[in-house]
Amino acid sequence: MHKYGLLVIDMLKDFVYGSLKCERAQRIIPNIKELILTARNSDIPVIYANDSHIAGVDHEFRLWGQHAVRGSEGALVIDDLKPTDKDFIVSKRRYSAFFETGLDPLLRELGVDTLMLTGIHTHLCVLHTAADAFFRCYNLIVVRDAVEAFTDEYHVWGLNFMEKFYGAKLMTAAEVLKLIKG
Ligand code: ZN
Repeated sequence: MHKYGLLVIDMLKDFVYGSLKCERAQRIIPNIKELILTARNSDIPVIYANDSHIAGVDHEFRLWGQHAVRGSEGALVIDDLKPTDKDFIVSKRRYSAFFETGLDPLLRELGVDTLMLTGIHTHLCVLHTAADAFFRCYNLIVVRDAVEAFTDEYHVWGLNFMEKFYGAKLMTAAEVLKLIKG
């Protein structure tokens, strides 16, 4: 019996509607929403991994410009997917949700051995999080219609890479919902 954890990566105002807006991210909102609601009702921890950058400082700004600055409106999770008190929030300053964050000990304490990945972007934060999860021996499910990227090419490339090199299982949201509900 696996203990699942649902990870929601970077579904923030800046990434979906704001400075790094991605229209393709908007179409996965309903699937993520349904997964979150079902997870909450099934005793599966919901963990948000959110970019939370320090204004004027973070290394990543060289590539992307300022985004998801800590304390700003753009760094908040979009209203449709708002966390509740029952959920967990991990703040990150790099692509990976594991890098210099408390995610790994949190997952251990929750007894999670299998991570279900949702959010954006398939080839960036999702992929780097998958890499770090693989290095730490977690099983991976990538919900293929609950992750997205700027282009279809990046999205498909990211999915294939995670499947091939991190052993990630690619599943649809419908399949995952069925799995959760047993
Ligand atoms: Zn960032």
